[in-house]
Amino acid sequence: MTHKILVIEDEKQLVRALRGYLEQAGFDVIVAYDGRTGYFMARQEKPDLIILDLMLPEMDGLDVCRALRQDSDPTVAEVPIIMLTARVEETDRVLGLELGADDYVTKPFSPRELVARVRAMLRRLKPLREGKAQPTTLLRSGDLVLDPVRHEVRIGEQIVDLTPTEYDILYLLMSHPGRPFSRSEILDRVQGIAFEGYERSVDVHIKNLRRKLGDDPRSPRYIQTVYGVGYKFKEG
Ligand code: CA
Repeated sequence: MTHKILVIEDEKQLVRALRGYLEQAGFDVIVAYDGRTGYFMARQEKPDLIILDLMLPEMDGLDVCRALRQDSDPTVAEVPIIMLTARVEETDRVLGLELGADDYVTKPFSPRELVARVRAMLRRLKPLREGKAQPTTLLRSGDLVLDPVRHEVRIGEQIVDLTPTEYDILYLLMSHPGRPFSRSEILDRVQGIAFEGYERSVDVHIKNLRRKLGDDPRSPRYIQTVYGVGYKFKEG
């Protein structure tokens, strides 16, 4: 099956280069040159993954990301998003992740690295999509339940909406209660690839998870910070 990648980026030269690399890697590539068109294409074409630039005409990348994550169609709301950011400010990347992007790449980047990230992300989603080799044991901690068959997280009766990355991190931590994971280990286990300098993105995913789970980092019920190491799921 050929994966369809939607590139939303207004720099024509960069789009040309990206298209070349992605097509060479065997992907179908569709392109939108502004945010609004990109948003509508995402809803209509249902791509397998979106590469989304932050600075875009019509509707910026953050707005596109926010709108997609709120879509009523789960295939749209859960599409993996890799954000491209030219800005050096940490806050922009952090904001992108907070709005539900799964990963980000800072410009200038090597197209090879981006293709590697696209591949890694699709690889980790594949077994989920195909329903293969999936664990079937419910993970529980108090009223928090992770159901790997339905790919669903609930607190009591309430379903918690998580991005694929947040779900995978929670799954990793919950399936090893009490075992601390370093940031780079989490990235490696969850994204299938860990690039230097991106460890902080784990903190943002954890922050999102805690917010969505209603977990207070000062007295966590679920996810504990292990100082100097990373994170672990609370035992017992
Ligand atoms: Ca741009």
